[in-house]
Amino acid sequence: MLSGELWPAHPHPYPGECLSSWIVRTAHHNGLKLQTFSDIVFGKSNQIWNRDLDRLAPGFVLQIMSNRASISLKEANKSTLKLYTNRLFPTLKPSGILRWTNPLVLHHRKHTGFGMQFCPLCLLEDSEPYFRIAWRLSLYTFCPIHQVMMEDHCPCGASVNFHRIELGKANQFEPSTLDECYQCSRLLSSVEPRVIQLLPMSVYTIWNRVLRVITRGFVNSGPINYERLILLHQICKIIVSPRFNRKIKRYICDTSGLPTWDIGIHRYFEQYDVDERHYVLKLAWWLVGNTNKKLKESIRRKFLQHNYLYRDSSDLFLRSVVK
Ligand SMILES: [Zn+2]
Ligand SMILES: [Zn+2]
Repeated sequence: MLSGELWPAHPHPYPGECLSSWIVRTAHHNGLKLQTFSDIVFGKSNQIWNRDLDRLAPGFVLQIMSNRASISLKEANKSTLKLYTNRLFPTLKPSGILRWTNPLVLHHRKHTGFGMQFCPLCLLEDSEPYFRIAWRLSLYTFCPIHQVMMEDHCPCGASVNFHRIELGKANQFEPSTLDECYQCSRLLSSVEPRVIQLLPMSVYTIWNRVLRVITRGFVNSGPINYERLILLHQICKIIVSPRFNRKIKRYICDTSGLPTWDIGIHRYFEQYDVDERHYVLKLAWWLVGNTNKKLKESIRRKFLQHNYLYRDSSDLFLRSVVK
């Protein structure tokens, strides 16, 4: 049945769709459970779901998907995190924390981390719910289309595991849609949206623009400033560090009028939940902005040490960013 050049059903990826979502939908469109489909198409000896597939997509998986769905390999590659190489991080390193990317934290093929986020309204408006590669990004804490917070878990506490929604449902005739929670079966598209009012306006304008460019997959959307985002990431690292953040966090809150929140302690910015990342990013964008004015002022007034700007970073330009 699946041996021909094209499968009976060979859906193309939706705009911005991630590879894992595309594969699960293709399996369901062909009336097969994901595991059966994967065994037939990719080979029983090639277990592909024991990794972060959107980060570590084997070449043969992309080749098969592009051939059978009749799209170019270049297009297929855009469904993976490779899309962000030289835009958000320098290389797609295979292990460890990847800059700006939420980790899935795999345990026996289950995502135990909260690495895939979702906008309930995007899912609700989809003719067929699907997950976007941009929703893996840790700076993508609100939906620039709907102006609501992204969510990183179902109200039942489960993380997104759309590759597991059919498990234990042997007698189900119709496959579930991808927005169903694998743990409690609630539709993630029915989660109450949390509308944001992002102030100050200067922060909102610059951040919203970056997220819109990312949402469009960098197509017809103008460039984003790679170096500015490296600087932003470095400031986020400082703000989440109990050792280095003391003066600068207070300075930002006092000067901007933003509230002072206590946040948890994790080693990496990418490990924080969506609400904490949203808060940290707000402070960081306020300081970074479009020019170095506020940054210079905070260094001049000794709320931030100049060497913090390049501490633990291999990005050389950070050493000369504020002279
Ligand atoms: Zn949305
Ligand atoms: Zn649930």
